[in-house]
Amino acid sequence: MTHTPAPRPGVKGLIFDEPVLFDLGSPGRTAYSLPSSPIPEVETETLLPPDEIRGAIDHLPELTELDVVRHFTRLSQWNFSIDGNFYPLGSCTMKYNPRLNEDMARLPGFALHHPYTPEALSQGSLQLLFELQEYLKEISGMDAVSLQPAAGAHGEMTGMLVIKAWLESRGEQRRKVLMPDSAHGTNPASSALCGYEVVQIPSDAEGLIALDKLKELMDEDTAAIMLTNPNTLGMFEKNILEITETVHSRGGLVYCDGANLNALMGMCKVGATGVDVLHFNLHKTFSTPHGGGGPGAGPVGVKDFLEPFLPVPHIEHKDGQYHCNYDQPESIGKVRTFYGNFGVLLRAYTFIRTLGPDGIREACESAVLSANYIKAKLKDDYHLPYPGPSLHECVFNDKQQLKHGVKTLDIAKMLIDHGFHPPTVYFPLIVKGALMVEPTESESKETLDQFIEAMKAIAKEAEKNPENFHDAPYLPKVSRPDEARAARKPVLRWPGKTRN
Ligand SMILES: *Cc1c(COP(=O)(O)O)cnc(C)c1O
Repeated sequence: MTHTPAPRPGVKGLIFDEPVLFDLGSPGRTAYSLPSSPIPEVETETLLPPDEIRGAIDHLPELTELDVVRHFTRLSQWNFSIDGNFYPLGSCTMKYNPRLNEDMARLPGFALHHPYTPEALSQGSLQLLFELQEYLKEISGMDAVSLQPAAGAHGEMTGMLVIKAWLESRGEQRRKVLMPDSAHGTNPASSALCGYEVVQIPSDAEGLIALDKLKELMDEDTAAIMLTNPNTLGMFEKNILEITETVHSRGGLVYCDGANLNALMGMCKVGATGVDVLHFNLHKTFSTPHGGGGPGAGPVGVKDFLEPFLPVPHIEHKDGQYHCNYDQPESIGKVRTFYGNFGVLLRAYTFIRTLGPDGIREACESAVLSANYIKAKLKDDYHLPYPGPSLHECVFNDKQQLKHGVKTLDIAKMLIDHGFHPPTVYFPLIVKGALMVEPTESESKETLDQFIEAMKAIAKEAEKNPENFHDAPYLPKVSRPDEARAARKPVLRWPGKTRN
């Protein structure tokens, strides 16, 4: 192999090989030391019936506390994280999670507060939830917010159930939901879960909802349109007023997927654009951790005529007291235990309070500026299928590199050798070989420049030595797993394969 892996700016630390726990340890080692007990030992058999006594476990490793701590700490260093380096994941908004959020979530008054504590003794926590509802209303221009849903997709389902309940309260049984072909996969899934048939609206040449097609498709059997603004190409639906008017004129409602609120907050109130329901991804826009597929929070905002249908309880402020209102006969019911993901809501609250109105707007401006900076710097190296103005993310593809036999997946893999997490690839589906980059407002110009430099080096290498891409990446412990098999039959033992 003649390929020399690229240097990794600032991220090439010590890389440990780590055996599995079962290969570590030595008989007789323990992770505790306790004084001997004066109480005499008794045989377990004299205390329990035989079928309740577990037999000996073979090969259980005997380890010291230090063995265990080092093992897991080393394993954690194999992972890529937002605290470790840049994560330009388009649509998923991987921004820095400020430590102040974590500090606040660990305050004993919050962390130890039991959800069954009576309302009168929970005023502080309830006030926090109430105020978060108010902030989200202010940021979005919606009239009421429920904090219950535990993720974006969960918020979508909740919002669609609210729309359905409202329609049914009017004696209407509509069957369809419209959505653009650039929609995130959770949109059709959420609609289908609520019993709707999904009808796709094609995008026009600019990458926006084709208005003429919408006018053709919108009818009295359509419950709603689910759109994303800015859409998953990072583009603002500039015809939003005409879109919402068209849908409303035939009795339908407008659902806006608010996962991309990073591009609007402080600049544009979604509620003012005719949207009836909107979900927020607190783990994206409001800097709470994504976790391993959770825990997140996906609050839902609605216009006032939909408020009675929101999940219970709704947190209210009356006569100087904060309280949970369960008395909403038209509510779709609970969608999650208690009040939602309290620890996550608390972190988002902290983020909003830290930034304040000006900071929220500035974060949005910086996110948009960063994406456009990357777009401008890389436009000669990578093809831009929709070159129109975009907001907080930009979508390239592999058209220029395909001429040399290098495809999007190869580019993404090679980027790992440069020390960056690959961007979102092959999404949105309407872009063939999409490479979708969202830098967010958290990244410095130096980081963006390093990323741009890496992407340029990759474009050059694709032209000169396309054969290098077949085995990329070269530096990580695992380079090119068979993606389908890796998901279905994961190799959990190390070494699973010999390194090259
Ligand atoms: C992330 C995302 C979702 C889904 O949110 P989850 O919290 O992952 O369920 C929906 N729509 C868009 C546009 C997204 O980016």
